[in-house]
Amino acid sequence: MRWYLLHDRATVFVDNDDWYLLVHTTCKHLQDDYRCGIYETRPQICRDYTTDECEFEDDWCYEKYFETPEQLDEYADALFGPQFPDPDLDECHALRSRRSTALPIA
Ligand code: SF4
Repeated sequence: MRWYLLHDRATVFVDNDDWYLLVHTTCKHLQDDYRCGIYETRPQICRDYTTDECEFEDDWCYEKYFETPEQLDEYADALFGPQFPDPDLDECHALRSRRSTALPIA
């Protein structure tokens, strides 16, 4: 997920607990008249696409919406606790320190 957000014009949103990648570009095969330039050989994902569940009347509000890897990191930290301490900071200067290892159970 983080890798997706390292790319320009890519965002991630969550709707009904499903995560989606949103690519903010038009397809290079989309013609000026909005018709597909490779319609007969278009990819399967294009053939499977349907507008049946489009939310034309929705308020365009996502459950979660991420535009940067930092936002995703912040979300993961809030949800799971800090996972990746900043490698540029030593433990004395990090805002959060590594989680201590669990004691063995006898
Ligand atoms: S149908 Fe697929 S290949 Fe054709 S313009 Fe749309 S996204 Fe591009």
